[in-house]
Formats: sequence, C-alpha cells, structure tokens
Amino acid sequence: MKILIIEDEKSIADNLKIGLEQHRFMVDVAYDGQNGHYLAGEYDYDIIILDLMLPDMDGEDLCRRIRKEKRDSFVIMLTAKKQIENIVNGLNCGADDYLTKPFEFSELLARIRALLRRTSKNKENTLCISDLKMYLDKEQVFIGEKEIKLTKKEFMILEYLLRHEGQLVSRNQILEHAWDRNVDIFTNIVDTHIKNLRRKLGKSGRLIETVYGSGYRVLSRKIDK
Ligand code: CA
Repeated sequence: MKILIIEDEKSIADNLKIGLEQHRFMVDVAYDGQNGHYLAGEYDYDIIILDLMLPDMDGEDLCRRIRKEKRDSFVIMLTAKKQIENIVNGLNCGADDYLTKPFEFSELLARIRALLRRTSKNKENTLCISDLKMYLDKEQVFIGEKEIKLTKKEFMILEYLLRHEGQLVSRNQILEHAWDRNVDIFTNIVDTHIKNLRRKLGKSGRLIETVYGSGYRVLSRKIDK
C-alpha cells in the first residue's frame, strides 16, 4: 500500500514516514502543498495524509483539488486546531477522515487500516491463496501452520501480487508499489526479491509464476507436498 504525506513540519513528516514504513507501507513525503499536489497527480496513492496548515497553499483547497483529480485515494486530514468548524470544513472538502494534532501513531495506523478496509477489494484483513495465508493486521505470513518470516519488501511484494491474483503484474508496477520514487527503474531488485520470496515460500513459491519478459502472476493451484 502506498501513502503520500503532505506536511511542512519536517520532523512530523519524517517520523510518520519511518513509522509507516516499519508497518510495511511505502511512503512518499512532500514538504509543501505544491509538491504534494504534483506527487498526488503523478502517482497512485492508496492514502494521502494531508496537513491542513501548509505554508504555500490552503489545505482545504488542496484537498478539494486532490479529491476532484484522484477519486480512488483516501484523504486523512491533519489539523492542529480542535475547533469543530475546521473539522467540519475538512470533511466537507472531501477528506475521508481527520486527526487532531497531537495524535498517537497507533491511532493513525488504525484509521489507515479502517479506510483501506472500506474498498471492496481490501475488506479482508487476510489474503489467502492455496495454503498460503497473509494476515495484514498482524503482518504475518503462514504456509499451513508454519509461519514464514519475510522482510518488509518481500511482504509488500507478496501482498501486491496476492491483491492482483490471476493478473499479470509488471516489474514496474511492483517497483512503484514497494519502493519510493527515488528507485532506479533499471535495477533488477524486483527479480532478486522475488527469488528470495520464492525460496522462503518453499514449494508454495511456485504459486508465483514468471511471465517471461513481462512480469509476474500469482495463480491459485494445488501444490504437491
Ligand atoms: Ca503545517
């Protein structure tokens, strides 16, 4: 899952990025409204965390614009003001949820997950295929009864593949989903991670099919033990 943080207070933005990355989200940060608006238009984010008070732009105005241009992204608004009218305005201009500063990181995380469950494809907290089970809330992967320890990147790649079960997923799609925008698109890191992922999954690694020259596809099938 991909998140954009638009927040001019660098320490808040950077801490959120670190925290969210630890929970296996891919995070881009914009420290002003203009850059935030650009990134929101350029990439597909599942969630946009938008600070209401930005130096160069009116947060509500930016929210309205993003809402108009990116219907598929959820927007969580951050506000330093507790006044009810600001919250109402924030929700009126299209934010899906809001948090008042200061807030607990765990609350933000819970709200992000609640929003992600709203879309039909994300309703489940568990992704399953054959004997492979992925628990998104607990950040655990099992094959049958056995837990498989994955790195953050491997987890993100597997989650992305499972969410697109049966579909061809290109290397670039995986790169865009699991790495931030500074990644070198000519690297072969995706293939390296898929290789490690398959090895860790053992026989179930065969669920991940290579589509020669194009990318990868996860297909449900019976795996002989
Ligand atoms: Ca601010």
